[in-house]
Amino acid sequence: MKFVEDKIIESGHVIGDDILKVDNFLNHQIDSKFADEVGKFFASSFDGFNKVLTIETSGVAFALTTANHKNYVPVVFAKKSKSKIVDLSTCYSTNIKSFTRGLVSEVTVDKKYLTSNDRVLIVDDFLAEGNAALGLIDLCKQAGASVVGVCAVINKSFQGGEDAISRLGIKVVSGARIVAFKDGKPVF
Ligand code: 5GP
Repeated sequence: MKFVEDKIIESGHVIGDDILKVDNFLNHQIDSKFADEVGKFFASSFDGFNKVLTIETSGVAFALTTANHKNYVPVVFAKKSKSKIVDLSTCYSTNIKSFTRGLVSEVTVDKKYLTSNDRVLIVDDFLAEGNAALGLIDLCKQAGASVVGVCAVINKSFQGGEDAISRLGIKVVSGARIVAFKDGKPVF
C-alpha cells in the first residue's frame, strides 16, 4: 500500500544491512490513524476469520485494528515472557527465535483462547525470516485451528519469511513489501 511505503520513507531509518527502525509510528510511538488504516486493509484482504492472533508487543495494535474492522472479532496475543501467572500445563507453547535479539524464547497461548473451532488470521508488525509467524502457525496447528492468512505491516521479503509461509500454502499480505535495502534506503 502506498500509504505504508510513504510512512516508511518519511519516518523510517535503515540500521545496518537488515533492520528498519520505525519507532516513530510503529514500535514505540504508534500512529493510531495509520494503525486503523492498516487494520482496515488487512481485514478487507481476508474472509472467514473469527480470531486474530499476534505476538506481544508491537503486533497487538495492528491485530486490534484488524479485528475492529472485522466485526470486533477477538484478538489473542501469544506471550513471550514467563510469569507466575502462566500455567504451562494449560498452554500451547513453541520456541521462537527473535530476529532483533537473536535469542530463542518460549512463547505461549492459553488453550482456552485457541481451539479447533478457530479460523485464525495472523498479524504482526514485521515479517523477516518468518520465525515469529511460523511459531504462531505452530501454535494454531497444536490447537487444531486453521490459519486463513498472515499479515505483516512491513514485509522484508528478501529475508525469506514470505517464501517460507507461502510454501505452506498460506497467503501473505503486506502493508509494504521491501525487496532490498540499497544505499541505506528501502526498495519496494
Ligand atoms: P521474523 O520472526 O519474521 O524473523 O521477524 C519478525 C519479528 O522480528 C517481528 O515480530 C519484529 O518484532 C522483529 N523484526 C524483524 N525485523 C525487524 C526490523 O527490521 N525492525 C524492527 N523494528 N523489528 C523487526
